[in-house]
Order: sequence, then C-alpha cells, then structure tokens
Amino acid sequence: MENVQVLNQLLKFEFSRKLKPGNAVGLPEIHGFCDGGEKAYGSALFLRWKLADGSYSCIPLMVKAFVAPLKKKSIPLLELMGCLSLARLYSTCKKALQFAEISQCKKVFWIDSQTVLTWLKTSPRKFKPFVSVRVAEIQETIGSEACKYIRSDHNPADVLTRGISPEKLKTWSEGPPFLKRPEPEWPKFQEDPLESGKELSEEMKRLNKFEAANTHEQVDYSATSTESNDNPILEHLMKSCFTFTKARRTLAYVLRFANNTRLKAKKKGAILPDELRESELWLFKWSQRTINVDTVDKKLIPASDKQGVLRAHGRLANIRSLPAEMRNPIILTKGHQLVNLLLKHLHEKRAHCGFKSLIYESRKRFWTVGVRNMAKQVTVKCVTCKRLRGQPLGQIMGQIPTLRVAAGFPAFNNTGIDLFGPLQLRIGRKTLKEVQVIIFTCMTTRAVHLELVTDRCVSRGFLTVCFTQRIPQ
Ligand SMILES: [Zn+2]
Repeated sequence: MENVQVLNQLLKFEFSRKLKPGNAVGLPEIHGFCDGGEKAYGSALFLRWKLADGSYSCIPLMVKAFVAPLKKKSIPLLELMGCLSLARLYSTCKKALQFAEISQCKKVFWIDSQTVLTWLKTSPRKFKPFVSVRVAEIQETIGSEACKYIRSDHNPADVLTRGISPEKLKTWSEGPPFLKRPEPEWPKFQEDPLESGKELSEEMKRLNKFEAANTHEQVDYSATSTESNDNPILEHLMKSCFTFTKARRTLAYVLRFANNTRLKAKKKGAILPDELRESELWLFKWSQRTINVDTVDKKLIPASDKQGVLRAHGRLANIRSLPAEMRNPIILTKGHQLVNLLLKHLHEKRAHCGFKSLIYESRKRFWTVGVRNMAKQVTVKCVTCKRLRGQPLGQIMGQIPTLRVAAGFPAFNNTGIDLFGPLQLRIGRKTLKEVQVIIFTCMTTRAVHLELVTDRCVSRGFLTVCFTQRIPQ
C-alpha cells in the first residue's frame, strides 16, 4: 500500500527540463558527484549557474544509478564503479552538449571515498586488473586534478545508494546547499590519508619487494621498517644502478665532487678504497632511515655509532680476536633494494656460493632482518648459478636384450667373456711369471667364473669352462 502511494507521488512529480535559467550569466560550472554502496552505485551531474543577482542555482544535468553486481564486491570497489559511472556520464554529456562549449567550463568531481581518490592519484600499472582498468579510464576521462573529497553527509549522490522519499526529491534536485554559496564559503573537507592505506595495499599488485621499496605508496611489509622515507639520492641510485658496486662507486664520485667544491686540494684519478668505504656508509645510513628503532629486536641492543650508522651491540664485545665490524654489525632492513644488491654482490664475491654461505658472509659485517629468505631468493634467481648447477637432460634406457632375460635355462647358457690382467702370481715366497684371468659371466644370472691363464694359450682356460660348466651358446 505504501509503495502504491509512493508511485502515485512519483507520477505527479514534475521538473523543468530547462538547463539554463533565464537570468544566468556566463558559462556554468559542472559538479559531478558519485557514490557506491552494497546495493547500488551511481553518479549525478549538476550545472551550477551564476545568476544576474549574484546568487547561484544548481540544475541536475544527468543522474544515473545502477544495481550493484550480484558477485559481492568490497565498498571501495563499488565506490570506484560509482566514480567510473560519473566519468562516463561526463563523457556522454560532453559529447551531447558540444555546442554549449561544456568542455571549457570549470569542472569539479566530488568523491566521498578517500581510497578511490588515492587510487586516482596512483599509476594504474600498480594495481590488480579490476582496479587498474577502471582507474585508467577515469584518469583519461576526468583526470585526477579535478577530483575533490566530500563528506558522505554532504554528497547528493548518497541518495542513489540509499534511496529517497518522493517529498524530498524536489529539494534534492536543487543541488547540494553548499553549491548555492560562493566558493570561499564552501565547507572544507579534510582527507585522512591513513584510512585509504589498507585498501590501497590490498588492491596493489604483488610487486617485487625490492621494487615495492621504491614506491612511497607501498605499505609496511617489514616488521622493522616504517613507511619508506629513503633519501632521494639513494632512491635515484637504486633506480639507475643494478649492482652494489656501481651504486657505491657512483656515490663515491658524487661525494668526491661535493668535497672538491669545498676543498682547495682537489682529488683526481681513480676512486680510492677510503672513498668507497665512506660511500658505503652513506648508503647504509640512508637505507636505515626506514628502520624504526623501537621495533628492532631488543636483544640486538641497537645504537648509532660515531658516524651515525645503526649497529647491533650483542654479547661479543669482549672477543677481541673478532674484527670490530663483526662484533657490532650494521643493522639492515628487510626487503630493501640496497640489501638485495648487497647480497647479490656478496654472492658473486664468494664465487656464487649457496644461501647458507651467503648468510655467513653477510653476517661478517651486517645484521639483516630476514636475511635467510633474501639470501635464498638471491641464490635461486642467480642466472649464473642456474647455468652452472643445471642438471643434464636424462636419457631413457633401452630395452634389456632377450639374452639377458632368458629364464628357464641353466647358468652360463648365455655367457659374456673377457680377459683381464696381467697379475703377479705368487706361490709361497716365489713370484711366478705374470698371469691373466678370463672372466665368464652368465648373462641371465650374472654368476661369475674366473679362470687363470698362466701362459699365452687362452684356449686351455676356455676349454676348461666348456667341460666343467657347460658349453655356452
Ligand atoms: Zn650465483
């Protein structure tokens, strides 16, 4: 009964189809709103006209709502679909209203999902296919610059997912109240970037950990590292250098250049070992910026040395025979690209050793969190190791000949014969002359008969077998 009343009210609903009020001045502004919910998603486009008396008027240009897919999707994905419908709505209106120069108007697209806004500001390549395709289309159509955050309670597209009673429809069609005020008086909607972090990471492709270390959007994948706040020089080095030695040498040249600009005695020629060591320390110091000291295992007793490098202070302080670097190893973070390059370097330096040797080698100077898995990955992915340790292709053995499997015959029916020697024959203390031995093997049972041959006449031994055993076939 209630539904019938609602339908009757809707039948009486009237609205003006005029898109431009009589007293409008200049070009309109386009304001798009979108929303996504469990049951539906949709979007609405409004034209905001400035009137001659200085006030503003909003007219709905196009409104579209869709039923949510039967296959359940998460709310951020439905919000993204709402945003995509807004982009398509705008694209349709732009084509239809070409004559009205709609493309030159100011455009604002209001989105009430911080996650979707963060997705739109990220490269689509980093997402899984569903999000990637949609983000790319939205970015091509409306771009990410025109998108703004709006709180759900101010979003007129919210009614597309929740529904609205017919009495309120008239007020709704006049647009959100804040658009009727001048722009400086609009409410400020603050974004909270932390909220979008979880969904962002869930929808991101499983990047190579070392690749992921370079992206500032990637969430914490290590127990010890906080968000990536690497030094920009280190980030650049990691992008441009593919070996640890190259990164170290490049930075050494950069440091030398920086020193040469300050000092009168300018260094020239090949890079010296001291310069390489200094460059190495800078690299490790920068990579340690991602480490949160509070989350490092307390047993390591982490503390910075004079040069500012974070080192572990374990229980080996009194072992004077050990080098200082081994007693207080440099703490390195899990999954950092620099650590990966370092392990590769050590693996090659130690003649492409196995992962256990690599761990041993790295522990001489470094304490890397999660070194076991990283060392395994480095050794497994090493192309040289694959080539050197590859197994040859196995052959399928041929069928056993009939002679070997002839059952039901006496032993030595089929016999193999060979002669071996010479051997020294000794009886008591006397050494006789050299002798040879004939070996008879039964082809079926593998029984063996040995016959001594004391002279060059083989026929005697052969005949002995023939008479005592059996004449072979
Ligand atoms: Zn290797």
